Amino acid sequence: MSGDFDPAAIQVTAGHFIAGAAIGGGETIPVARPSDLVDYAEIPIADGGMVDRAVGSAHAAVAASGWATRPPRERARILRRWAELIEANAEELGRIEAVGSTRPISQAVTGDVAATADGIRFFAEWADKLGGEVAATRSDNLGLIVSEPYGVVGAIAPWNVPLSTASWKLGPALAAGNAIVLKPSELTPFSAVRLAQLAIEAGMPAGIFNVVQGTGVTGDALTRHPGIGKISFTGSTRTGAAIMRAAAESGIKPVTLELGGKSPQLVFADADLEKAATCIAGSILANSGQGCVAGSRVIVQRPIADALIELLTMKLPQIRPGHTWKAATDFGPIISDAQARRIDRIVTASREQGGEVLLGGGLMAGYGGAYYQPTIIANVTADNAAVREEIFGPVLTLQLFDTEEEGFALADHPEYGLAAGVYTRDLGRGLRAVRQLQAGTVWVNRYSRTLDFILPTGGYKSSGIGKDLGRQAVEQNLRHKTVLIDIAS
Ligand code: NAD
Repeated sequence: MSGDFDPAAIQVTAGHFIAGAAIGGGETIPVARPSDLVDYAEIPIADGGMVDRAVGSAHAAVAASGWATRPPRERARILRRWAELIEANAEELGRIEAVGSTRPISQAVTGDVAATADGIRFFAEWADKLGGEVAATRSDNLGLIVSEPYGVVGAIAPWNVPLSTASWKLGPALAAGNAIVLKPSELTPFSAVRLAQLAIEAGMPAGIFNVVQGTGVTGDALTRHPGIGKISFTGSTRTGAAIMRAAAESGIKPVTLELGGKSPQLVFADADLEKAATCIAGSILANSGQGCVAGSRVIVQRPIADALIELLTMKLPQIRPGHTWKAATDFGPIISDAQARRIDRIVTASREQGGEVLLGGGLMAGYGGAYYQPTIIANVTADNAAVREEIFGPVLTLQLFDTEEEGFALADHPEYGLAAGVYTRDLGRGLRAVRQLQAGTVWVNRYSRTLDFILPTGGYKSSGIGKDLGRQAVEQNLRHKTVLIDIAS
């Protein structure tokens, strides 16, 4: 159990991490602590030349170390050792994450760092299990399907869960035999560098995992670099579209895109209401609503609407807001002042369109950083700003329905399809919902929470392409070469 700590005592390695060493130089930008918006470090911005150096070092490392061609068990051993080192340094990594992001220390160590280590270990186990296939349909031929890594994968990560989203790209790419160049978000740049240092300590050859720091300009240069074989991105749908365009224009690179969401939670009159309310509250309060799968649209059957509202208005205020370095905090800040003001603008627009704010609806003062009140908005239709837009804050909207068909229709968002929840005691209805809901993940009588690495995660519609986690994530980091051998003579 982590205690309070002094954020000023945090040591971060500012710089890129290329060929096993931290590198600075060039233009820099300040990095703020979201909890109190105090600038605490700087990062350099990688230009095209620095990206070229990182990609070049990755190719050189693959060639020199035989990372792709050595027995996969050796890669697995290094990845397992890395996971152990992540666990051994969990408190330090958790503090870097807590100071630099919106994750309270109580969740950063036992949640994010633990999930990062477990994820790397899960992918390590796949290293020697995807060896290709023999295919023979004609007796005069022997066909082989050979799996090969892309070479160097480019990864671009968001700020909301920096460590674990990065590790879900690192694990499968490295296990499959690729090297990787990761660009973390400019808002949360430091935990990735510490991860890279621990990888070296675990025995990973220098240059196999590189970090370049920078903004979208750096991300674009990485995407377009001719030495990158595949791009793996987590972030907003808008940026995902830009990356897909850039990847198409620079050699038709394959992309994995984990993008935004506006996920519904459908509550039927026969549901365990207490459980549904607990899950809904948990899903929107987690990381102060800054989760891609935040279940922000509550869609409730009319007879139980008042009872659900009563439970939610009781549960949502049960938070312990505060600075992320305080052990008691369970509700952290919004990542930046600009982001908090964006949340407020959407809530104001929703009100102007007839939305009725039943709870919250404004910023919380007194912390130095930008904190937003847990908020419930009722009386909204599908075209209301708060229903349409991904808010990325602790804001729930409430819509009512009568028939099952109406409920399913309301749940369908025109743009997003990342996740959905359904609460009912009727098994048939739950399974009909699974069929009807256009989402990459559907939870029945639960919402999010525990991670199961074997289950892939990814979106329908504009919420993404491809999967993180699961066997599928490793397969997406391999290409398949077909070989046909004439054995007739
Ligand atoms: P963002 O799209 O603003 O930025 C993500 C990353 O892309 C950053 O590292 C940024 O520097 C980089 N970037 C920006 N412009 C770029 C460009 N043109 N080319 C290449 N890189 C560029 O997203 P964010 O605000 O950091 O993260 C929040 C978003 O991420 C939300 O929409 C959320 O839903 C989504 N997200 C999705 C998942 C998922 O699994 N589907 C998980 C976490 C977050």
